[in-house]
Amino acid sequence: MQRPTFLFLPTPLTLVTGTSLMALAVVAASADATSNEALEPWQQAEKTEVWEPVPPVVEAPVGGVPSDAIVLFDGSDLSAWEAEEGGSAPWQHEGEAMTVERGAGGIRTRQEFCDVQLHLEWRTPVDIEGMDGQDRGNSGVFLQERYEIQVLDSYDNATYPNGQAASVYKQHIPLVNASRPPGEWQSYDIFYTAPRFDQAGELESAAYVTVLHNGVLVQHHVEIQGTTEWIGEPDYDEAHGCAPIYLQDHDAAVSFRNIWVREL
Ligand code: MG
Repeated sequence: MQRPTFLFLPTPLTLVTGTSLMALAVVAASADATSNEALEPWQQAEKTEVWEPVPPVVEAPVGGVPSDAIVLFDGSDLSAWEAEEGGSAPWQHEGEAMTVERGAGGIRTRQEFCDVQLHLEWRTPVDIEGMDGQDRGNSGVFLQERYEIQVLDSYDNATYPNGQAASVYKQHIPLVNASRPPGEWQSYDIFYTAPRFDQAGELESAAYVTVLHNGVLVQHHVEIQGTTEWIGEPDYDEAHGCAPIYLQDHDAAVSFRNIWVREL
């Protein structure tokens, strides 16, 4: 903003008293919003304070579930999940854990989700006799039923790195291998931005994901290139809205527990 000057005041104002002129100068100075020099430091600081909106309060107990989370499995029942063809989730449920029923198919949430923060814990079988690579403790967390974060026993178990645990399957190799031995519980914390499609069904913006494996950053805001395919290239051919979270049956008795999600 241009600083006003009193050297070129209109003629009538040159007749005002000295006191009035001083008052006018004060008004002119305060009207000069870009000038910080006339303000006290605390007044300058206030200019960059933002007071709205106030974030809602969320209770976040240590090691617990945030108060605004949707609990998908806490050991009590599988009611938040269903079979691939609908109906009750066909997996085993014992105590705090649910376990893949090999050959019964994957399970998906009854509720659909878009952008989420997802927490879950998983455990691959101890009995690894004669199994290696992709055959050892394979499952998967599919965001919106399409984009897989690989679950695999990747503890001392070589496979293609873009298909090991915590990979975005065949798209992004994890930054490090934070795997624990088979039989131990491990955690994923997943921060997911869903893809956007326009009215014509064309991709507007790709999906992005950040993943912590056992608390270690392994995927850092990586772009998901489309559906995670075993064979062929990823694609965004099918426009979609919110969709379930899906857990894979890949013929291994992988267990899950403590699953919750926050909609973003
Ligand atoms: Mg898998």
